[in-house]
Amino acid sequence: MLGLMMHQPLRIAGLIEHAAKWHGTTEIVSRLPEGGPLHRYTYAEAHGRAKQLANALTRLGVQNGDRVGTLAWNTHRHLELYYGISGIAAVCHTINPRLFFEQLVYIINHAQDRLLFFDLTFLPLVTKLAPHCPTVEKWILLAGDEHLPAELALPGLASYESLLAAESAEFEWPVFDENTASSLCYTSGTTDEPKGVLYSHRSTLLHSYAASLPDCFNCGARDVILPVVPMFHVNAWGVPYMAPLNGCKLVLPGPALDAASLYELFESEKVTFSAGVPTIWFGLLTYMREGHRQFSTLRKMIVGGASCPPALLRAFGEELGVEIRHAWGMSETSPLGTVSTLKASQLELPEEAQFFLKIKQGRAIFGIDMEIVDGEGQPLPHDGVAFGDLLVRGPFVVSDYFKGASPGQLTADGWFRTGDVATIDPDGFMNITDRSKDVIKSGGEWISSIDLENLAVAHPSISEAAVIGVPHPKWSERPLLIAVRKPGHDLSAEELLAFLDGKIAPWWRPDAVEFVDSLPHTATGKLLKTQLRKDFAGYELK
Ligand code: ADP
Repeated sequence: MLGLMMHQPLRIAGLIEHAAKWHGTTEIVSRLPEGGPLHRYTYAEAHGRAKQLANALTRLGVQNGDRVGTLAWNTHRHLELYYGISGIAAVCHTINPRLFFEQLVYIINHAQDRLLFFDLTFLPLVTKLAPHCPTVEKWILLAGDEHLPAELALPGLASYESLLAAESAEFEWPVFDENTASSLCYTSGTTDEPKGVLYSHRSTLLHSYAASLPDCFNCGARDVILPVVPMFHVNAWGVPYMAPLNGCKLVLPGPALDAASLYELFESEKVTFSAGVPTIWFGLLTYMREGHRQFSTLRKMIVGGASCPPALLRAFGEELGVEIRHAWGMSETSPLGTVSTLKASQLELPEEAQFFLKIKQGRAIFGIDMEIVDGEGQPLPHDGVAFGDLLVRGPFVVSDYFKGASPGQLTADGWFRTGDVATIDPDGFMNITDRSKDVIKSGGEWISSIDLENLAVAHPSISEAAVIGVPHPKWSERPLLIAVRKPGHDLSAEELLAFLDGKIAPWWRPDAVEFVDSLPHTATGKLLKTQLRKDFAGYELK
């Protein structure tokens, strides 16, 4: 027997419609790539312009399922694209400009984007891309006509503002199946060719509800959110959807992600919480310390995308009164999977024990189920010690990549292999110990490269460290520690290894240390271990 409740498909346009109707005067503030004063308007105005865009896209012949690309910072225009494109059942393909040129060409062609909207900053990039991207019929500059370069021959070049100005704000959002594709985001390809994750309206809405919950982002109509995490990578962790759902004021920093510009916005716009990767927060921390500054309103930050260094969590809490919530996720999980928020019973624990839990990647949010398995696919105990491949499943987890299967990503019983290696403790707190491809397999046992890296960077003379496995005749692989010394610091390999002693099992001790000037990174700032493995191929342990 079916329930007797209204059948209303979950659609992304419903979010902005809701915000316009019930939070119509709540502000959206943006710093624009073309400069000038901060741009301010309301959800009601954003909705009107999203509808003008929907009219423009329809007039340009954009059909259900067509991909429309964006190369843009966090601004109100990008927000309008999120809603205008998905709202008419086309696919909003956010492109990460930090990817390498060849990867950009690959994904635009793979996605077959028909239109491509870009910020002024990306004009030089777009000029280089256009000849390689035959599917793009129109390149649209996210600015007014006055910014259109006189001498530029891009197919169908037009300005966004002129496109919108020609349209009415009268538009009925179409109703369609909630499983319709809404947006497309390519993983940055730390390990392989970029792969497209194709979200649906349903998955996006369920993720938005789940991510808003108190133990996750905990956002409400009294909040002011500033997503530092870019809208061009994994939908800014869902903030552009969560904010209208909850009626939060939204502050969009554009391309100015330096500490001074962020701090200025945090203060002037009375931001209450923010979200981003650890690197950004380290820069901000230094800036705060240097100027003996404090935040007036910022109280909470979601930190994820890479492991949150303990020093960061401690410093923000103790020195700046900002609670860091450590979160784990990936493009394939929409992205939030776990958040490290304590349970009532854990508040009784000594402070250090609480800290130890907060620094883990955390508990599964509703909508995500997870397990850890050994090399044979057998479940491992949730004892906080055993570590194995992390599997996830749920209504906002990918079931297949765009245009084709990636063999081996799904298990026979329908779990997605994350490629991460983790422990799960009896309270359900998951802790990433490595990527499957990075874990060092020494004599049949696993050594976590991430644990060794975290310990190494805790040394006051080390700014960054990477650990990779190098071939060993007896143990098959042994750890090599590659480290970058802070400028002016003179640390020896022996001193660094001595620093690790007592903190790790003796057999985890790296067999060698190499100092380098810098480490290679992916386009999204993660350590590029594939490159390090190439650089140190044939490395001989003495
Ligand atoms: P890509 O692999 O393309 O960079 P994502 O940007 O989706 O893809 O990154 C997902 C990966 O980032 C995860 O599988 C995990 O390895 C890592 N990651 C994300 N959050 C955390 C975290 N809090 N701690 C450790 N690793 C994390």
